[in-house]
Amino acid sequence: MIQVDKALELIASSIFKMEPVMLPLAEVQGMTLAFDTYSPINLPSFRNSAMDGYAVMLNSCNSYTLNQELKAGDSAKIRLKAGEATRVFTGAAVPENADTVIIQEWAQLDGNTVKFIKKPKKYANIRSEGEQLKSGELVFKSGLVLNEASIGLLAGLGIAKVEVYATPKVGILVTGNELQQPGKTLKPGCIYESNSIMLELALKKAGVDQITKYRVKDDFLRTKQAIEKALDQNDLLLISGGISVGDYDFVKKALLANHINEVFYMVKQKPGKPLWFGKKDKKIVFALPGNPASSLSCFYVYVLPAIRKMTGKKFRANLKTAISAERIFKPAGKTFFQKAKVEDGKLSILKGQSSSMLHSFAVSNALACIPENVEEIPENGEVEYFELDL
Ligand code: AMP
Ligand code: MG
Repeated sequence: MIQVDKALELIASSIFKMEPVMLPLAEVQGMTLAFDTYSPINLPSFRNSAMDGYAVMLNSCNSYTLNQELKAGDSAKIRLKAGEATRVFTGAAVPENADTVIIQEWAQLDGNTVKFIKKPKKYANIRSEGEQLKSGELVFKSGLVLNEASIGLLAGLGIAKVEVYATPKVGILVTGNELQQPGKTLKPGCIYESNSIMLELALKKAGVDQITKYRVKDDFLRTKQAIEKALDQNDLLLISGGISVGDYDFVKKALLANHINEVFYMVKQKPGKPLWFGKKDKKIVFALPGNPASSLSCFYVYVLPAIRKMTGKKFRANLKTAISAERIFKPAGKTFFQKAKVEDGKLSILKGQSSSMLHSFAVSNALACIPENVEEIPENGEVEYFELDL
């Protein structure tokens, strides 16, 4: 049995980042940039007007002769003569020698003459070439998690594809003779299978889009074959159930028979004691306990950080701190992960913490983390928790 922190440390040191892949911008939301990115152009790439108005070479006079008009997209290159103004619109290239754009709200047009009721500062309202980014300048360092704003900026630089860490293909192997798919009347002795959809959706939320599900009865040979196939087809394998110590729990034996190296088995935690983690070359396997709440708890605490690291992100999620709304008691010797509700900075542990009960998870927004050697947290004491994005 190992401690939670040790288990996390072992996972972190066992995991490789996925290979970088080149993907179109529309597909990289939430993914991590694999290389430093430099601007291929000056941004903006030509001097242009930030406002609708009149481009001039600012002088002491407040009256100019209108020469022509430039709107966004026009490519004409013009030069102003002394005392001339060019009608310009936002985004239009300004005449080469214009130094200022006077906004149209300050202008009065009289035939071909434009008069200004206010004098702007010189250089006002002109976006100079490269003022946002110079060609060759660093735009983003590798490791940035791309969002709509950063992707928008890349598009604005004319970049259509970027190299990001690939997202792992994940297999979910569900074990259990008693499991029946929802939708039909339950057979005697059976239960509805809930872990695969739960894990699948949690994976999707984490950005994993290639998920394959496998099912197997509690049978050593079939489990061994199913693991072999699932590991062959995926980068990461999650196994549900069959990892405890019952006579019909064949997962550990089947994992070892597939020469998957055990990194750890059994963690000093509640729920989720019989968690198994191992690897074979660059492929990794988590065998999660079958009880639904244990499975989901282990997913948040261990599988999510693993996926984050594989995809070039920070391994550990930040634990947040709240004030406990009540006294919390627990025995020393195990870390407790408890479904909780945090409201206005106060954390309450929810009823129904049994590892088979999903209801408390379903109404929680936090997973309180009460360390191994803590036996009591007083009312108003500090308690750490993972924020759950449920
Ligand atoms: P196991 O880890 O296989 O010993 O299963 C522990 C408990 O979780 C048993 O009560 C199982 O019936 C239940 N269980 C296992 N797998 C699932 C699943 N996929 N969906 C719902 N409950 C499950
Ligand atoms: Mg089972």
